[in-house]
Amino acid sequence: MSEREITVKLPDGSERRVPVGTPVAQVLYGLERNVPPDVIAARVNGQAVDFTRPVTEDATISEIRFEEPAGQDIYRHSTTHVMAQAVKALFPETKVTIGPAIEDGFYYDFDREQPFTPEDLERIEAKMREIIAADYPVHRLEWSKTEAQEFFRQQHEDYKVELIDELDVPTVSCYQQGPFIDLCLGPHVYSTGRIRAVKLLKVAGAYWRGDERNRMLQRIYGTSWPSEELLQQYLQKQEEARKRDHRVLGRQLDLFSLDESVGPGLILWHPKGAMVRHVIETCWREEHLKRGYQLAYTPHVGRMQLWETSGHLGWYKENMFAPMEMEGQHYMVKPMNCPFHIKIYQDKLRSYRDLPIRLFELGTVYRYERGGTLHGLLRVRGLTQDDAHIFCRADQIKDEVERVLDLVFYMMRSFGFEEYQIDLSLRDPQERTKYMGSEEVWEQAERALEETLQRMDLPYHRAEGEANFYGPKIDVKLLDAIGREWQMSTIQLDFQLPERFDLSYMAEDGQRHRTVMIHRAILGAVERFFGILVEHYAGAFPVWLAPVQARVMTITDRQRDYADRVSHQLQAAGIRAEADLRNEKISYKIREAETEKIPYMLVVGDREVASGHVSLRQRGAKDQSTLAVDECVARIRDAIDRKVL
Ligand SMILES: [Zn+2]
Ligand SMILES: [Zn+2]
Repeated sequence: MSEREITVKLPDGSERRVPVGTPVAQVLYGLERNVPPDVIAARVNGQAVDFTRPVTEDATISEIRFEEPAGQDIYRHSTTHVMAQAVKALFPETKVTIGPAIEDGFYYDFDREQPFTPEDLERIEAKMREIIAADYPVHRLEWSKTEAQEFFRQQHEDYKVELIDELDVPTVSCYQQGPFIDLCLGPHVYSTGRIRAVKLLKVAGAYWRGDERNRMLQRIYGTSWPSEELLQQYLQKQEEARKRDHRVLGRQLDLFSLDESVGPGLILWHPKGAMVRHVIETCWREEHLKRGYQLAYTPHVGRMQLWETSGHLGWYKENMFAPMEMEGQHYMVKPMNCPFHIKIYQDKLRSYRDLPIRLFELGTVYRYERGGTLHGLLRVRGLTQDDAHIFCRADQIKDEVERVLDLVFYMMRSFGFEEYQIDLSLRDPQERTKYMGSEEVWEQAERALEETLQRMDLPYHRAEGEANFYGPKIDVKLLDAIGREWQMSTIQLDFQLPERFDLSYMAEDGQRHRTVMIHRAILGAVERFFGILVEHYAGAFPVWLAPVQARVMTITDRQRDYADRVSHQLQAAGIRAEADLRNEKISYKIREAETEKIPYMLVVGDREVASGHVSLRQRGAKDQSTLAVDECVARIRDAIDRKVL
C-alpha cells in the first residue's frame, strides 16, 4: 500500500511532500529531538499546535517563538503543568483545577485544606526545578470522554471530572509529562526542560469559577522566562514598578485619596494633587486655544431621550449610572460628552465655510466599572476626559488628523514622554458589511488616516479589523520611564452619530451634506494621566509641574524675616514657594523636603543674610551653590518656563 503524501509549506517559503501523519517536528527539523531550544510550538494553517501533532492535510507551517504573545502564553501555560505536577508530588491530597497564562506570568488554582505557606512555595519551586531538569517529554493523549472521566475519578480530581462533564465532545485531550497527567486543550512546549527560569510570586484566594457561592481555592501566581537574565530583569522591573505605585506615592505626597463613604472609584483631589492637575489643565487649555479650538462647558446630566438618540442606551447602557427622575422626566449622568457638543454644533445652520468647528472641554463623565476592576487613579468611576469634537467636511479629515497628531506629540514631549507606538485601526476587509457608514466615506477616511501617518513619517502598526463599528481610528501608546506601555491619545472618526443626530452643513452646491465628526482625547482622562505621570516620574515632578517648587529654610530663628522676604520674592515671580521657619535642625528640614520631592531648597543662614544670597540645593543633589536672590529667582523661573528640572 503506497503512503499518501501531502504538501507542506515551510517557514522559509519552500514546499515539500511528506507522508500524511508526519509529526510537525519531523516536518520542520527532520528529527523530533532536533527541535531548537528557542522555538516554543508550531502553527499549522494558523492554528497553534504541539510539535508532536501529526500533519494530516496540505499545510503552511510556521514556528512560534517566545517573542510573540502566543509563544509567551504557551510557555507560561506549560509552566503551570510543571507547577501542578510539583504540587501533586509534594502534597498529594491537593486537587488540581485550572492554570492559565496571564500577562507576564501564570497562575494555577488548587483545592487544599491547609494554606500554602511561603516555605511551601519554595519547596514547590525546588520541585519544579527537578521536573525541569528531568526534561520529561510532553505527550498529548486523546481519550474518550468516559475513559478520561474514569481516570480522573480514580485520581479524586473532582474538578477535572466536572469540567469533562460539561464538554460536549466524544474525545478529550490530556497531556502527560512523566507520571503526571492533566486535562488540557494544549498546546505545550516540547518537553519540561524547555522551561528555563521560574519564580513563584504569591498565593491568593480565588473562588472556583470566580463565583463566591463556590469553594474558595488557593491561587499560586508565578512567572517564567527563557533565561535567568530575563527573569531577573522582569523581577527588577516589578520592584521598580512597586516603588512607583501611584497609590502609595499619592498618599505619601498627599496628592489624592479615595474614601469608601464617598464611593469607590471617585477621587478626592487634595491641594497638592489639585495643583498639579491645575497646571496640566492650564497647559492643555492654552495650547488648544492657540490651535483654533473653541472652549465649551456642558452639563453633567442629560435627558434619557438624548441618550436614546445617541444610541448609548443601546450599546453602552451597562456602563452608565442608573437614571434618576425629576418632574416626570428621566435623566442620566453622562458617560460621554459627545451629544452635548453635537447640540452646540446643531444650534445653528452651518455652512461649508464655517467648518471645521473644534469644540473642546475638560468634561467629567461617570461610568460604571465593576468594583473588582477599580484601581487607584487608573480605573475609576468618575473621570475627566480631555475631550474635543471636530466637525468637518470629508475633504478636511487629513488636515485635521495631522493637526491633532501634532498636538499629541507636543503634549507628550511637554510631559516628558519620548517613546510611543501608533496603532491604525481599520475595517476587517472580509466583513465590510458590519460597519456603519458608506463605502465611499470609509475609503476616504481610512486613506486619510494612513496617508497622514505616512506624510508625517510616523511608524505605525496597521490593525485590520480593529476599527470601531462607527469608524476607523488612530491610538497612541506611550512608553514610560521603565518601559511600560500606556494607552493615551485616541483619534476616532465617527460616521454613526452624524447619522443619528442628522448632522449636516450647507455645501457650495447649495445642498445639505453630512458632517464628519472626529472624537479625540490627547491625555485620555485627567485622573488616569495623572496616575501615569506620578509613576513615570516616581513622584518627583519636574519643576513646572511640582505642587511646591521651592522651599526656603532657615538655619536659626535669626533668619526668619529674611527667609520670609525671599519666599515672597519667589512668589512675586510666579514661583510656588513656601518658607520653613520651624525651629528644627537644617539637616532634618532638608531630609523632609527631599521626601516631599520639592525641586529647589533654598537654605539661609547668617552669612546669606549678610550678603543678600541664598544657598541653593536641587532635589537629589549633594552639593549646593551660593548665589544672589535675583539670580536664584531667574534660574528657577527659567527651568519652569523651559519645562525642565
Ligand atoms: Zn495545558
Ligand atoms: Zn466623543
